[in-house]
Amino acid sequence: MHALIIGGGIGGLAAALALHRNGWQVRVLEQAPAFTEVGAGLSIQPNALRALESLGLGDRVRAHAVADAPVGIRRSDGPWLIRNDVDRITRRHGPWLTLHRADLLDVLLQALPSDALQSGVQVRQVRRDGTVIHADGTCTADVVVGADGLHSATRRSVWPDAAPPRYVGYTTWRMIVTARPVEGSVETWGRGARFGYAPLADGRVYCYAMANARQGTAVGLGGLRRRFAGWHDPIPEFLDAADPDAVLQHDTYELPDLDTFVAGRVALLGDAAHAMTPNLGQGAGQALEDAVVLARILEPARTGGAPVAEALRAYDRARRPRTQKIARRSRRLGEMAHRTSASLAFARDTALLMTPPSIIARSMTPVLNWTT
Ligand SMILES: Cc1cc2nc3c(=O)[nH]c(=O)nc-3n(C[C@H](O)[C@H](O)[C@H](O)COP(=O)(O)OP(=O)(O)OC[C@H]3O[C@@H](n4cnc5c(N)ncnc54)[C@H](O)[C@@H]3O)c2cc1C
Repeated sequence: MHALIIGGGIGGLAAALALHRNGWQVRVLEQAPAFTEVGAGLSIQPNALRALESLGLGDRVRAHAVADAPVGIRRSDGPWLIRNDVDRITRRHGPWLTLHRADLLDVLLQALPSDALQSGVQVRQVRRDGTVIHADGTCTADVVVGADGLHSATRRSVWPDAAPPRYVGYTTWRMIVTARPVEGSVETWGRGARFGYAPLADGRVYCYAMANARQGTAVGLGGLRRRFAGWHDPIPEFLDAADPDAVLQHDTYELPDLDTFVAGRVALLGDAAHAMTPNLGQGAGQALEDAVVLARILEPARTGGAPVAEALRAYDRARRPRTQKIARRSRRLGEMAHRTSASLAFARDTALLMTPPSIIARSMTPVLNWTT
């Protein structure tokens, strides 16, 4: 049985690996000239790590990562709003990692046969019968996995009436800096803006910032330094240490809920199916879960025990409710974090101050307790 995977990001490569390990002939078509990820960090939370472990990659991923459950949330002038019980979170849920995106992509690439990977091929159209039209010709497969991200060509072909991605009102910057080492990941909330940082295994620090902005507003490092001047240490120091050419800025989008992730022989996976705001740090984690579940659910189809379309419907039932719920939760967290009115931000900060760490640890359970 042949599976064609469109898109060689984290989701597509994980799906290819999960299917390959189950005996599928896989082929990944990636439009970029090479398989690469952006220069930023990524949190791999306990559920995502379980998915990677089931792909046989747990140790290799851990070797590139720092284990650092989130320490807490601070106010822009410094005081803690939430101080997590990191040991309790780790005991309850398992290790919480941060690593460089490129390292995760490399681990996935190395686990796949090189002849399954084809870069520089842009897919133009996909049909629900498994036909794929790309820059070099046409091919067919028993299953087509659309893992081609937020602006998925697979989704546009097979779900022509689906609503396009929606801008959520804030833009995001990411950068990796060489600066004083940090001991854990911390986020700081102000009014309509946030800053976060986390240690990487090589001693550098992964930083990100988010601020309310009109869609398409480009702000360089100078503007970012001005926006976060006066925030507590070490935020201005990290921004001073940043390389202006290595700061990434992306507007933040989410995908309105789809009615189904599958049609005929085609399944959507990762951001193509459920692009979500980055507030919970779960987008890649959900793509990894999708990959593992898809391969497991397709097993009867591979062995001739069920039609592909029927197996894919089971994938939709297994994945859509969970991913859409997590996307909603992520959106609500962003709405709370990005309040601009002084009174609403004060009410938010007061509520956070009064929330016991045990409640925070428990509230994460439905997201983090996923098992294969
Ligand atoms: C600021 C920010 C911070 C984040 N932080 C985290 C985090 O800490 N933890 C976490 O779990 N998630 C995080 N996420 C979410 C995470 O990055 C995404 O959910 C994840 O990368 C999605 O992977 P994907 O493979 O589905 O899509 P993508 O990474 O978008 O990959 C899609 C691939 O398909 C290719 N492609 C597109 N169109 C075509 C085509 N027509 N033909 C062929 N190839 C095509 C693209 O080139 C790309 O390589 C964050 C997101 C953002 C924006």
